[in-house]
Amino acid sequence: MSNNKQFWPEIKVEPPGPAAEKVISQDRRYVMQSFARWYPMVAEKGKGMFVYDKDGNKYLDFNAGIAVMALGHSNPQVTKAIISQTRKLTHYSFTDFLYEPAVALAEKLSEIAPQGRNTKAFFGNSGAEANEAMIKAARWSTKRSYILAFTGSFHGRTLGAVSLTASKPVQRRGFGPLLPGVEHVPFPYCYRCPFALEPESCGMYCVDYIQEQLFDKYLPADETALFLAEAIQGEGGYVPAPDGYFGKLKRLLDANDIPLGIDEVQSGVGRTGKWFAIEHYGVKPDYISMAKALAGGLPLGVLLGRDDLMGLEPGSHASTFGGNPVACSAANAVLGQIKELKILKHVADVGDYLKQRLVELQDRFPLIGDVRGKGLMIGVELVRDPKSKEPADKELAELLLRSWKRGLAIIGSGRSVLRFAPPLIVQKGHIDCAIELLGQELKSIEGGRGN
Ligand code: PLP
Repeated sequence: MSNNKQFWPEIKVEPPGPAAEKVISQDRRYVMQSFARWYPMVAEKGKGMFVYDKDGNKYLDFNAGIAVMALGHSNPQVTKAIISQTRKLTHYSFTDFLYEPAVALAEKLSEIAPQGRNTKAFFGNSGAEANEAMIKAARWSTKRSYILAFTGSFHGRTLGAVSLTASKPVQRRGFGPLLPGVEHVPFPYCYRCPFALEPESCGMYCVDYIQEQLFDKYLPADETALFLAEAIQGEGGYVPAPDGYFGKLKRLLDANDIPLGIDEVQSGVGRTGKWFAIEHYGVKPDYISMAKALAGGLPLGVLLGRDDLMGLEPGSHASTFGGNPVACSAANAVLGQIKELKILKHVADVGDYLKQRLVELQDRFPLIGDVRGKGLMIGVELVRDPKSKEPADKELAELLLRSWKRGLAIIGSGRSVLRFAPPLIVQKGHIDCAIELLGQELKSIEGGRGN
């Protein structure tokens, strides 16, 4: 284990300190409280793998601003691209005019598109907007109306996107009626199989279920415009679909000419050790949506679709700020840096190391029920008992709070899952530090076996 100071956080004042408290009380007074925050961290600045709060505490960042800061904080090349584009042109609405950074980005994305090179891009400002565009493009192109999505999914919070989202009731409560024509089917969450089957022998019944219980019973497949899916569920608990799943699903969809859209908002742009998570499954989707990591912290959402599914007529869809030149310049720099720094290979290597270290922790602490994921998108599910798998949600909240107070910034997902989404530049020394701190806190919570 590395004791090298360069990998470690530094807590000077117990957080939240007095400067942070001031912001926290202003927030409570003036800002709508519709967020669910795990702990009150007031971020002031960031550098590389670290984020600093208002009181000068230095945290090891395993959140990356929720899977956004792929290259860490203040990457010099991305910062340079932002400053230089800001000096030239900050905005000129791609809805009515053209500028090069957006068009160049569309070309770069077509070079890495999992669909193959015949793609076209649409630019919005967020993940939700990219998914909204997907819904509209699929309906418009297929002239069909129904949409399929998974339970446990998260696709955003605008009314169209939230109609597909199904990871927590609070995301929908009080907002209905939502978009009609949306059907949900169970996600292949093998640790908690919705059909109580075993992965070794189930034959992926969850795909047959769609045929048998939906298409054969009530949902006209020939009126279904889109299946929107995450390859690895994010908000739903960092749950990867099992190998082979998307191959089988795609065959079913192809037989019915239903486009497959993959939401890569959280899993895309290198997080899993490939440009896009769906590449792990050897399947060519028809659409993908992306946002988060794409523009180095600036707002940008992109729908990338197969040419023939992106033929919307002029005037039918647009967004004033979508494809902002500064955000697109940042994105061009992010893609360039991922290539130049060989980040995909690095993610695959350190991702394996992180998983191995987490499996070691699992051996020590029965509270850890499952360790899963790809690259640097890893979920650690906490359960009160490995047999009953009762979600350890209170224990998770306590672990996150305690870890934060020690200087490790990490949050949860699903009901009781630790969400590992560090910047992609994380090194083994940072991982050792995170494991050490988590081990100490798990021991206090659980009175764990071992040292
Ligand atoms: N899709 C996925 C998979 C996400 O994880 C998120 C956000 O967490 C979204 C969509 C929504 O993105 P945004 O918050 O940028 O609208």
